[in-house]
Amino acid sequence: MSQQPPMIQITNLSKAYGKNTVLHDISLDVPQGGSVALIGPSGSGKSTLLRCINLLEEPSAGSIRVDSQVMEFGPRSQRPGGARLAGFRAETGMVFQSFNLFPNMTVIENVMAGPLYVKHVPRDAARAQALELLDRVGMAHKADVSPSNLSGGQKQRVAIARALAMQPKVMLFDEATSALDPQLVGEVLGVMRDLAAAGMTMVVVTHEMAFARDVADTVVFMSGGYVVEKGPAHDVIENPQEDRTKEFLRHFH
Ligand code: ADP
Ligand code: MG
Repeated sequence: MSQQPPMIQITNLSKAYGKNTVLHDISLDVPQGGSVALIGPSGSGKSTLLRCINLLEEPSAGSIRVDSQVMEFGPRSQRPGGARLAGFRAETGMVFQSFNLFPNMTVIENVMAGPLYVKHVPRDAARAQALELLDRVGMAHKADVSPSNLSGGQKQRVAIARALAMQPKVMLFDEATSALDPQLVGEVLGVMRDLAAAGMTMVVVTHEMAFARDVADTVVFMSGGYVVEKGPAHDVIENPQEDRTKEFLRHFH
């Protein structure tokens, strides 16, 4: 067995908005190259957990380690800021339900923007990398068009390329296909499947149960801010143990 530490280690994480605790004592490890699907009803805390992993939300307690960087939270911990926060965030790329491409830039400029303006990569190198990534998501032929001329599935594939351009160690997906017309879902899931197969560490919030079962190695079922059940993807989807998981999955059969 490998002794390699997990790529993501979430320990006793809690999050409250005022008096409303929406994440209760969550602990979760994701090995390097692993992929976890987060499933559960609306309001169960999936997005909040994802947003805590890259510190779009500040956890109330607990700790998060991504690769070699650790952040600890609690009443006595320092509010993270500045370079340390930026360094931590740079480890993760995130793809949202809404595509969030820059509308005033071409497709390739969208993918080049982070490397150019945040990492100060030379333009030629940023362009070459962006083309490679667009090719990887099947969008190289649209490099010079405006995002407004793309379908939702194409926009989302560009959004994935743009996140990858920052060379994150972890990719987070929050219902990346939920806003898409049904016939466009497959092309985005296909790109995500390829990424997982290439060894990217991923945490994916999804309502696509077949994708969770077939692509993720671990499925985590959340309800009411708790991790109710987690285990090997196929087992949890096909043979859930907890009543709440069974009830939730019934809606998908
Ligand atoms: P999910 O993604 O599983 O649908 P969320 O993580 O979005 O769930 O929400 C979990 C809970 O946290 C919900 O009760 C929601 O109302 C609450 N919540 C989410 N964001 C905020 C916020 N910014 N302020 C207050 N409450 C929030
Ligand atoms: Mg959500």
